[in-house]
Amino acid sequence: MNRRTFLQAGLVPAFSIPNGRILTVRGAIRPDELGVCLPHEHLFSNFGLDPADPPVYDTQRLLREVLRYVNSVKYLGANAIADCTTQYFGRAPELLKRISEGTGVHIITNTGYYGAAEGRYVPAHVNDESAGRIASRWVAEFHAGIGASGIRPGFIKLGVDGGPLKPVDEKMIRAAAIAHRQTGLTIAVHTGDNPEAVRRQLALLAEEGVEPEAWIWVHANNCRDEGALLEAVRAGAWLSFDGIAPENVERHRALVQMMKTEGRLGQVLLSHDGNSFRANGTRPLKPYTALFTHFLPALEKSGFARRELQRLTGENPARAFTLRARVTGI
Ligand SMILES: [Zn+2]
Repeated sequence: MNRRTFLQAGLVPAFSIPNGRILTVRGAIRPDELGVCLPHEHLFSNFGLDPADPPVYDTQRLLREVLRYVNSVKYLGANAIADCTTQYFGRAPELLKRISEGTGVHIITNTGYYGAAEGRYVPAHVNDESAGRIASRWVAEFHAGIGASGIRPGFIKLGVDGGPLKPVDEKMIRAAAIAHRQTGLTIAVHTGDNPEAVRRQLALLAEEGVEPEAWIWVHANNCRDEGALLEAVRAGAWLSFDGIAPENVERHRALVQMMKTEGRLGQVLLSHDGNSFRANGTRPLKPYTALFTHFLPALEKSGFARRELQRLTGENPARAFTLRARVTGI
């Protein structure tokens, strides 16, 4: 079976989710409209450059290159992409909207601040403000849209460094919990191989009355501690295995297999952490195609049913991004 036939053979999810909507850059959609979704990519970014909002891009070149690239990913089978580029390292919702309109691919943008990279992309006001005040900025974007664009974020994106959470990161996790309670936006946190930070984040969410189901462990594939992955997934968290590339298919396949054995396929997200345009122009494009060209065929070959692939690529991201307050009611 060639790639295209493989994809045409039915990755379109067939399911229903009763209520809630997903916020894309072109507006709210029903969960069953999302289709096959890549939950963690970067259509473009300023990463590595000085913090900037709005970012400075060569817009014509960006649109030309990213439109072409997203069309190629659409051809492989993607119907939706969550863009994880945060404010200050390149978020540009109006460009995302133009790309979504030009390709027909649903794109979800985010609110929140990226605390990894030594806090380089965290704005100064975070030091002085309370968690509640920071949350109110993100909630304002949820209600009124980002800047003057009217485009609303579809999730909260944060990031933490290695080692214990810094006080400023703890404050932002609390802010995310407060914003989640008010909006139902899911919280995706760049965490990687840091089980201690995972436990602390889940504890902070619990203190703020937010369930682990509202939280995505971004870059969980980098964690070498299987026990920590199982602990988080048993608690109810989402695990994002988002480093898929042709050279590490087996690593990601083994992780998905572990979750299948554990009966937790419904909490797995699959993506590449790709990047189709870097403003600094020095580093090469990081593709986000291997899910289609390498990974799904490998899963199928190792015994995964088509239904399970639909679930992993369609239903799971749809549930992950559907607005719903997941709270303990304290
Ligand atoms: Zn990323």
